[in-house]
Amino acid sequence: MTKYEQDTLLIHNGFKYDAGTGAVSVPIYNSSTFHQVDVDSFGKYDYSRSGNPTREVLEETIALLEGGVRGFAFASGMAAISTAFLLLSQGDHVVITEDVYGGTFRVVTEVLTRYGISHTFVDMTDIAQVEAAIQPNTKVIYMETPSNPLLKITDIRAICELAKQAGALTFVDNTFLTPLSQKPLELGADIVLHSATKFLAGHSDVMAGLAVVKDEELAKRFYFLQNAFGAILSPHDSWLVLRGLKTLHVRLQHSVAAAEKIAEYLQTHPKVKRVYYPGLADHPGRDIQFAQATDGGAVLSFELENEEALRQFLAHVKLPVFAVSLGAVESILSYPAKMSHAAMGQEEREKRGISASLLRLSAGLENPNDLIRDIDQALAAVETSAVSL
Ligand SMILES: *Cc1c(COP(=O)(O)O)cnc(C)c1O
Repeated sequence: MTKYEQDTLLIHNGFKYDAGTGAVSVPIYNSSTFHQVDVDSFGKYDYSRSGNPTREVLEETIALLEGGVRGFAFASGMAAISTAFLLLSQGDHVVITEDVYGGTFRVVTEVLTRYGISHTFVDMTDIAQVEAAIQPNTKVIYMETPSNPLLKITDIRAICELAKQAGALTFVDNTFLTPLSQKPLELGADIVLHSATKFLAGHSDVMAGLAVVKDEELAKRFYFLQNAFGAILSPHDSWLVLRGLKTLHVRLQHSVAAAEKIAEYLQTHPKVKRVYYPGLADHPGRDIQFAQATDGGAVLSFELENEEALRQFLAHVKLPVFAVSLGAVESILSYPAKMSHAAMGQEEREKRGISASLLRLSAGLENPNDLIRDIDQALAAVETSAVSL
């Protein structure tokens, strides 16, 4: 196939039109089973857990975008991540980033441990710490970059090098940037994971997860697990993700520009204690970010003076929805301490710097000037007494 740019690939990929009907939108094959012509020659599809034509188009599209050999679609990001962990066996060990997504934290600490799979949390931005955490039984190094919610940047190439020397696989959760901004497989990773619920689908209307693997051998093992565990994405939801993907490029362009503008605005505001955004000039991970990704992404976090200030701000802000999730057409403000990282427990959160006055903002498709005006009036409503408590 001709090598197209990413924006073209979103529209012109493996699927051009349906061979039978000419339909340009992928048909939704709501069929659990498929008729077989005779006892000796089964067709390509037999049962939809094992393979479904609609899901297959999505799986091929994400593999193409990430530059992997094969993609897999799941019922949620956590289903994709959990299935990837099934590659491990009893006695294996995982080195994992300490500010990992709360749901992944829960699987690693409360599920894998029951099956004799141990873990060490590290600050992935510190290569020496990662190196020191590697054990003879380390089989996976798990990265998430930019991390959630503190937007810390891991050097994917450097960690993949370390992992190769140790004979461990590397998993990268690429939810925050998508393959349009960052391609972990090209940087040396073995498996890319996504919550497609976020930017890839992009409209807050579907839950989905995707995985892409680098080589055929891993693809066989991953397919076996997808079929065995069965946490697959439905045909209709596969279609929703495919539909969302077509506008990913234009959505991201708008949202990244908005996030940059909002981060710069917040940084100058006296009632904002700290802004976390890898696109900012003084972000400690900025150089690594721009060496492995094209931009700083559309998600930022910021800290107000204290919890009272945060409550007053939230009571006045009007445009963003206050909700769990990110990567949607509408801007989403979320409160990591009580939302994405609630599963972590207060002590673990505080150790990681996820304070009670931290908010995360995912920039949507509103006009960024309206968002800034809205944030500005909500900050103005935060009483100075709350700030100086
Ligand atoms: C949301 C999210 C997940 C989990 O995905 P679901 O689709 O909610 O199961 C995993 N990783 C990151 C970074 C996320 O933001």
